[in-house]
Amino acid sequence: MAKAELDLVDLLQPSPVIALREAGKVYHTGSISYEALRGIDLTIEDGEYVAIMGPSGSGKSTLMNVLGCLDDLTAGSYRIAGQDVSKLGDDELAVIRNRRIGFVFQQFNLLSSLTALRNVELPLVYAGVHRDERRERAIRALEQVGLGDRTANKPGELSGGQQQRVAVARALVGEPTLLLADEPTGNLDSTATRDVLSLFSELHSQGRTIVLITHESDVAANADRIVHVYDGRIQADEAVRS
Ligand code: ADP
Ligand code: MG
Repeated sequence: MAKAELDLVDLLQPSPVIALREAGKVYHTGSISYEALRGIDLTIEDGEYVAIMGPSGSGKSTLMNVLGCLDDLTAGSYRIAGQDVSKLGDDELAVIRNRRIGFVFQQFNLLSSLTALRNVELPLVYAGVHRDERRERAIRALEQVGLGDRTANKPGELSGGQQQRVAVARALVGEPTLLLADEPTGNLDSTATRDVLSLFSELHSQGRTIVLITHESDVAANADRIVHVYDGRIQADEAVRS
């Protein structure tokens, strides 16, 4: 094919949700520097459910911060949905975080004084969505995680598993390109863990792109693909048989 045709084929190909190339991250503490990520090549396509697994200190949270545009690389490149993150300023990064990424953390990070509904509405407040639409979308997101009857409850009136589902609803309400979860079951008992993982599987079957960070192999086994990290490198990248 001629070069122009190849360029066109390239343009018509959808960009992967995530493309890390030779990605590196060095932390400096005083005179000591530590290479937390080394030569990471990672591509994640639209609709994939990927677990990033590794022991404590392997670089998972560093990778999560990079993927979530919360921290920048010191080497290599990161494109999210085709957009080169290193070229963006702080304001543009904030927009990417708000529009493209839904975060779920180990500590649910819900505001205890607000109802489930108000917690889920918050990202839409920041995005400037009008009150009625905000409310409607937050109710829909809570229904989607099976909490349509808990909209008026505050976090303290909900179980751990329910609180994490509120956090998932909050992550989804902005219709992000990517759901990014760092040890989302780390604070949950086994029943609540199963509950949250089955929600992730359901969201995946609806076409969501999910990156789940965990140190537990039985949690990682819920994904379709497991990327093993060790000492800041990708050690293995395996498809999970289902
Ligand atoms: P994990 O989430 O897999 O436990 P992290 O990404 O938190 O791993 O950390 C990877 C390595 O980078 C660890 O050795 C940690 O001590 C180091 N590290 C993480 N954050 C910082 C930081 N802000 N400054 C210096 N070193 C850091
Ligand atoms: Mg961590």
